[in-house]
Amino acid sequence: MTNFSSYSRRKFLFTAGAGAASSILLKGCVGNPPSATTSTTNAATQQTPAANIDPSQAPEITSITLGYIPIVESAPIVIAQQKGFFAKYGMTDVTVSKQANWASARDNVVIGSGAGGIDGGQWQMPMPHLISEGLITNGQKVPMYVLAQLNTQGNGIAISGIHTGKGLGLDISNAAEYIKGFQAAQGRKFKAAHTFPNVNQDFWIRYWFSAGGVDPDTDIDLLAVPPPETVQGMRTGTMDAFSTGDPWPYRIVTDDIGFMATLTAEMWPFHPEEYLAIRADWVDANPKATKALLKGIMEAQQWCDEPANRAELVQIVSGRNFFDIPQEILNAPYAGKYEMADGKAAVDDIKKGPLYWTDDIGSVSYPYKSHDLWFLTETMRWNFHSGAIADFDTARQIIDRVNREDLWREAAQEAGFSGIPDSTSRGVETFFDGTKFDPENPEAYLNSLQIKRI
Ligand code: CA
Repeated sequence: MTNFSSYSRRKFLFTAGAGAASSILLKGCVGNPPSATTSTTNAATQQTPAANIDPSQAPEITSITLGYIPIVESAPIVIAQQKGFFAKYGMTDVTVSKQANWASARDNVVIGSGAGGIDGGQWQMPMPHLISEGLITNGQKVPMYVLAQLNTQGNGIAISGIHTGKGLGLDISNAAEYIKGFQAAQGRKFKAAHTFPNVNQDFWIRYWFSAGGVDPDTDIDLLAVPPPETVQGMRTGTMDAFSTGDPWPYRIVTDDIGFMATLTAEMWPFHPEEYLAIRADWVDANPKATKALLKGIMEAQQWCDEPANRAELVQIVSGRNFFDIPQEILNAPYAGKYEMADGKAAVDDIKKGPLYWTDDIGSVSYPYKSHDLWFLTETMRWNFHSGAIADFDTARQIIDRVNREDLWREAAQEAGFSGIPDSTSRGVETFFDGTKFDPENPEAYLNSLQIKRI
């Protein structure tokens, strides 16, 4: 009975999913507004059939729509679909949908795939927590689950070339007076941009400025700007700094627009970066499909980390349906090669570029709760969202609702993967300036910081 009904359901869903996917592709071809979404289904591209799946692990549904942004963080999602890793675990009809920007991804997950949006996908942190709490969705709470980290590193701080020779490197203590005096000298504040407020790239540049004695709220102008506009501003001399990720740094350097002051790999080696998160209602209805997706992501992450696969990785993600950029732009970061400047030696170390499955500390893929806590601690540090997350009890309760490391663990065990962490904490984290974040005592971290809003 169970077998028959689940078979029929899967068959129906596969058929229905394929039809829906075709219409999405058609809309994509005519530039469907508002988000310039390009969706790619795996029906036409995946070669590996779903086979040899333990019936007790067979997914309840074979289709899902996952959003992604065309930056290196999304590679495991694209690769899992294109290399057949989703299909291998029974998710034969995954649609990956390119999002125009982070605000579009947020809006699309609020409406869900049933209304033309997405079920989940790639997120900066702590977007899943903020969406769950209604803090960036006009109060509408859409519970989400964080399921895996997608990558570490691959981000950095780019500086306009007009600031060459001013000491803007990893430690900017010696450049602090130059930055703070910019208004008196130039008639405008030093201006810096990120891509979305109150998440990773905002946190990275805030940490960097603050560690050097520059208050990001008062000494400079720091705001969210679309990347092409930021890069154009750096070219014309109206934008000074950009907290950004690959492939932008390579473009900025090779086009002589500016230089890389630092990589996030130098600020916090093997730091948490972007994550896979899906709507809680979808996961709750489809726990086996969720684990099948996770197995596909994990296998893709292992594949992505294999140096011998990097050329094929670049070939796939640079393609017209995905990042739509020349392959040469991605070759350098995927080899860990970064041209620095202003007296800094070039970086040539594959472990300083994006990594997906393991790093020198432990698991990249595992969604450590200790890292969620750092993101929410930083949220408290800057008093984002009018102090809605004001204490560690509140932060920990939100994390316990949103973080589903248990599903990651079960999926890895079912798939027989090694490298499953023993603990939900990666332990004490150390930043480039010597500051330590102990997840057992986040108060000490906050107390140790000189520049903060609490
Ligand atoms: Ca990023």
